[in-house]
Amino acid sequence: MKITEVEARPFKIPLKTPLKWGLTGYMEAAEHVLVRVHTDSGVVGVAEATPRPTIYGESQASILYAIRNWFAPMIVGLDPNHTEKIWAKLEGIRWNPTAKGAIDLALYDAVAKAKGVPLWEMLGGHSDRLPIGWMLGIRSIPEMIQEALDIRSKGIKAFKVKVGLDPAKDIQVIQSLREHLGPDVLIYADANMAYSVSTAIRTIKKMEEYGLAFVEEPVPAWDWKGRLKVAQAISIPIMGDESVFTPQDVAREIDLGAIGVISIKTPRTGYTLSMKIMHLAEMAGIPCLMGTQGETGVGTLASAQFGASRRNVSYPSEISFFLALKDDLLAEPISLQDGIIDLPRRPGNGAILDEEKIKKYRMD
Ligand code: MG
Repeated sequence: MKITEVEARPFKIPLKTPLKWGLTGYMEAAEHVLVRVHTDSGVVGVAEATPRPTIYGESQASILYAIRNWFAPMIVGLDPNHTEKIWAKLEGIRWNPTAKGAIDLALYDAVAKAKGVPLWEMLGGHSDRLPIGWMLGIRSIPEMIQEALDIRSKGIKAFKVKVGLDPAKDIQVIQSLREHLGPDVLIYADANMAYSVSTAIRTIKKMEEYGLAFVEEPVPAWDWKGRLKVAQAISIPIMGDESVFTPQDVAREIDLGAIGVISIKTPRTGYTLSMKIMHLAEMAGIPCLMGTQGETGVGTLASAQFGASRRNVSYPSEISFFLALKDDLLAEPISLQDGIIDLPRRPGNGAILDEEKIKKYRMD
């Protein structure tokens, strides 16, 4: 099997409600890139690239440029099975993580389709189901409580709460959520690096009283000394996200000892690097979950396939963003029952695209 074409199409699907996080994060639509790897056997692998300029410096336009002008010419003619060799080639260009990630995810989808197996099986076969949680963006406390109660009534039992802008309010949010949701719900907070070290320690210690399970990136990712200081001062684990973009980052953080949970995001590490991260984490005794990069249905299925396949995914994953979108590119919606994604049995990542919707939402 040989790669004949790498297609990249920009698309835009609006959100039901605009989302705010961290110091600068804001979005009102998913403006992503659909990536399709065509092969000479007729099999087509599909994936989604998720530009996040405030996180990775990539834009929709930069992803289109990188794929069309750099990465596609590098890999056309190669065998999509050779994912290690192909990733080594992609590394010839620095960074561009979600452009590379999408190509890698699409390659695996093509390979699994050619083999006739679902990806969760090809990647390890631990399970074909994956529990997911819900992310509460920064809004007023009553709005956040109402949103959480609505979602809880749909069977979802894990909540990630965006914090970081107002420590006093952040503590109140965690307290109110615990009071309204009860003791059986998993609650964790993501500060997106917005606290100082002393604010983080003071604030998280208060949040711990309300059964906060762990805290994601309380301080700037570059401040490894600060991260260690926070980790030693609080009684719950820190979850790494911005501090663990790459397997090399994970190796460094394991050595440092500040992180107790790792968020794996297949949009930025594909399956090739996600597997390296998963193995490192598992051998260090660090549980993982699948973090969200705001994927629509295609990216959600890709991430769920990986999460379900590996036993070291020990917390509900975050990939519920598709529920916040007004529409999707999928012809068949994702099966979600009581907060658990039930993966399709068909080969590959299970995404069947609706060509009419691709036409409707495409931006070029
Ligand atoms: Mg995060």
